[in-house]
Amino acid sequence: MPRTLDPELRRALAARIRYYNEMGIYDFYRRPPSHSGGEVAAAGAVDEQSGSFAEHTLEPGEEMSPRKAAAVVRPVPVDENIFEAIALKPEQSVSDPVKALKIIREDLGDCTRCVLHKQGRKQIVFGVGNPKAELMFVGEGPGADEDAQGEPFVGRAGQLLNNMIKAMGIEREQVYIANIVKCRPPGNRTPEREECETCSPFLMRQIAVVKPKVVVALGAVAAKTLLAMSASMMQLRGRFYEFRPTGIRINDRSNDPHWDGCKLAVTYHPAFLLRDPRQKGEAWKDLQMVMKELGLKAPKSNT
Ligand code: SF4
Repeated sequence: MPRTLDPELRRALAARIRYYNEMGIYDFYRRPPSHSGGEVAAAGAVDEQSGSFAEHTLEPGEEMSPRKAAAVVRPVPVDENIFEAIALKPEQSVSDPVKALKIIREDLGDCTRCVLHKQGRKQIVFGVGNPKAELMFVGEGPGADEDAQGEPFVGRAGQLLNNMIKAMGIEREQVYIANIVKCRPPGNRTPEREECETCSPFLMRQIAVVKPKVVVALGAVAAKTLLAMSASMMQLRGRFYEFRPTGIRINDRSNDPHWDGCKLAVTYHPAFLLRDPRQKGEAWKDLQMVMKELGLKAPKSNT
């Protein structure tokens, strides 16, 4: 049975794999399991006699014996899922984005991958909008209205998002909207990191299908999950990030060679703006930055 890695180690390993992906390296090979059990041993090894942790330092000129080498260079046990994550996804061989999104939805199925499936969700809220959208909004998770209707951002926060989209000179139908988690957290609580990490690979696949020019992360949970970084909203806002969906093989010959990731901007979640309308001006600045990038002009009434 594959071992599950410590979340920190898993994140570090995923970041390293992403780094290799960005350099065009996709194929990884695992060493066969060692006879000694295969525990991690980078700078030292367990002394087989005493069971204590011992450093192996070579004297000048000393050659490492095969036994010492075997003890020091042991394979790192790796969670198979990390390697699965960088394989081509089934939807990547499909050119029609509607069909590709359908494949992802079918893959998600009646998902029970995280605890949110048994905490009162009525349905999975997959995502909605133009499958070829240039602009994509990503929120945190469905609320009561979204859970009831099966569509993201349809409640009061959704109304405000619609107004924000209109103010940018476009219609809701022109963009694609999704959330980090697809099931409603009970009592509208913030989704746990583990829930975000379990669900977000499906969102990454949706982004890779839609291939937007800009993704706008609505709120801290969306921003931190997409960017895999921890910072305050003040630090995250006001600039573009280069974004490539994690765990997706892009810029591959078998895939679209014209899409190599996109820009990502961070702004406040509309639910937060409803609670603190004084921040609407700041959010508008973020959206203006996005409009400039997309060549959008606000309708006359907003200028
Ligand atoms: S939130 Fe996502 S991962 Fe969790 S049960 Fe729902 S669809 Fe599955």
